[in-house]
Amino acid sequence: MPSSILSQLPSLAYGGDYNPEQWPEATWREDAELMRQAGVNLVSLGVFAWAQLEPRPGEYDFGWLDRVIELLHAQNVKINLATATASPPPWLARLHPESLPVTAAGVTLWPGSRQQYCPHSTAYRERAAALVERLAERYREHPALVMWHINNEYACHVAECFCETSAAAFRAWLQRRYGSVEALNEAWGTAFWSQRYAEWADINPPRSAPTFINPTQQLDWRRFSSDSLLECFEIERTILKRVTPNVPVTTNFMGFFKPLDYWAWAAREDIVANDCYPEPRDPQSIIGAAMGYDLMRSLRGGQPWLLMEQVTSQVQWRPRNPLKRPGQMRLLTYQAVARGADGVMFFQWRGALAGAEKFHGAMLPHGGTDTRVWREMAELGGELAQLAALRDTRVPADVAILFDWHSWWALELECRPSSDITMLRQLEAYYNVLYRRNIAVDFVPPGGDLSGYRAVLVPNMYMADEALAAALERFVTGGGTLVMSPLSGIADARDHIYPGSYPAPFRTLLGLKIEEFDPYPLDHSNHLRTSDGARFATRLWSDIIDLEGAQAIADYEADFYAGRPAITRHTLGAGQSYYVGTCLEPDGMTWLLDRALGEAGVLSPLAAPEGVEIGRRTDGVQNFIFVLNHNDHAVEIALPTPARDLLGGAAQVERLALGAFGAAILVDAESDSGVSG
Ligand SMILES: [Zn+2]
Repeated sequence: MPSSILSQLPSLAYGGDYNPEQWPEATWREDAELMRQAGVNLVSLGVFAWAQLEPRPGEYDFGWLDRVIELLHAQNVKINLATATASPPPWLARLHPESLPVTAAGVTLWPGSRQQYCPHSTAYRERAAALVERLAERYREHPALVMWHINNEYACHVAECFCETSAAAFRAWLQRRYGSVEALNEAWGTAFWSQRYAEWADINPPRSAPTFINPTQQLDWRRFSSDSLLECFEIERTILKRVTPNVPVTTNFMGFFKPLDYWAWAAREDIVANDCYPEPRDPQSIIGAAMGYDLMRSLRGGQPWLLMEQVTSQVQWRPRNPLKRPGQMRLLTYQAVARGADGVMFFQWRGALAGAEKFHGAMLPHGGTDTRVWREMAELGGELAQLAALRDTRVPADVAILFDWHSWWALELECRPSSDITMLRQLEAYYNVLYRRNIAVDFVPPGGDLSGYRAVLVPNMYMADEALAAALERFVTGGGTLVMSPLSGIADARDHIYPGSYPAPFRTLLGLKIEEFDPYPLDHSNHLRTSDGARFATRLWSDIIDLEGAQAIADYEADFYAGRPAITRHTLGAGQSYYVGTCLEPDGMTWLLDRALGEAGVLSPLAAPEGVEIGRRTDGVQNFIFVLNHNDHAVEIALPTPARDLLGGAAQVERLALGAFGAAILVDAESDSGVSG
């Protein structure tokens, strides 16, 4: 069953960013030939080529790109053609200095780096649209063109612009949102600190100010800034869909990236793409990569996605940039595939000799083809070519984590009870346990469909409304299990606190009320005692809870609220809601999730040793079990039923032996239809 998006490729997508404009034409033929040898079937072409495609204003040069595309096409390498709009040529700044972005402090960001454009600059938008129109018209019929790569890593450096043009656009956005200045005054709570606005013209972006800026102004600015770049994306997408309606479009995301509401963005693209650069010696970074991959799969409801950028060896932008160990590039590639990727690509094809990314790893490193990286990379290309059967298979999950960008933005504004309660910390506290238990998890936005899940986890939902509360109550009364953590259900979409006890929208769901919360200093801890006799440390936070129908399953041990509930369980209809009013260490979190997920009937797929990650994809008949050894030593795993390793030959095995950083994809005997890729 081929993927509808990438059906023109022979197997999983494999390749990388190709920047021929950085190289003399003599190398291009060798590049194309080596790509074929390495199993490359897709390249992202010309991501930063605007200055070469339009060397002077209005003067286009597509001749070199024509020749590159023909060389690639001759080797049957398909093209993910970039629109090249991520970094305007320096002449745009000379002709249109107003196109440059401005920081909150009024500082202009100049050319000489990349991404120096204001999203509301008319000059930028018009020049970008003109380039996209010409690219689309020129290559619309080319058989090698299989996908459009719009822009690049939107907002990775410039997520917002505070110039006068952007200020005017912000006012227009606010007028559409609120209709009247009075409604805005009400929403922003401007009765406070003499902030009341008389005219639209008085309203500005949250530029540098004497002290704390109005929180709702900041929140709306976040929303506006995400929307602003989405407008730029939409300008390009509209052109591409008019000229090449059948060519899918994407842009490369960056996992849990705070500035952009990827739920809104993913709805506008045909396939989700992601860039991911875990620190290869940091286990938490590798778990973070997995969490980002699960988000990417979730953004379009489980549809396969593309790992658009990873690195073969090492990056160049951390203070210290460790190498991936032998085998680790392959292992981390299969981590992405296990979590739903239908292709893996690298930045970059050929290691640059100049510029800021010259020490960034490449498929073809500085040392050429007689290198460890080349051999491992080419071998991986050959292996992935045999795995076409994985395409368009799905990752089944019984557990969902509720996640929302707006809540993330609001939670982390200043003037909160504690700056230690951050979205990623709260997510990781849950996700790390699920990862270690090898339990698959999807992410779902507020308003998303929960009906297919046994358990829904809510690490934080600072902003919530009655509709969300009602949806969660329906889920629980229908037999679902829910777990929620602090600072949820505190405010509405304007960041106004609900009056009465916390968490107002969720009190029926949870069967409790919270009168006060007590954030801790970093060096402070408390403990809780569970009803089954365990004792766990708590950190950062205590809710002081009154029960209204829920039962305490753990109490605080110390402080003036000693003996008061710390963790509660509330039966509602056929299901149950757990609430944990503190931050647990991993052992306490494991105790809680084992209990809640056990009650929900969620099972781990396969018992695995420490450091071994298990993933599952299925086409509904055949199951593919990924076994990924992140340890730097060998492991052996007894399989519950004999299975064949797709990466290891034809034999059925009962014990799976994996070397350091080894990977296997098991097909169990019952579902094995002799697939060889
Ligand atoms: Zn601007």
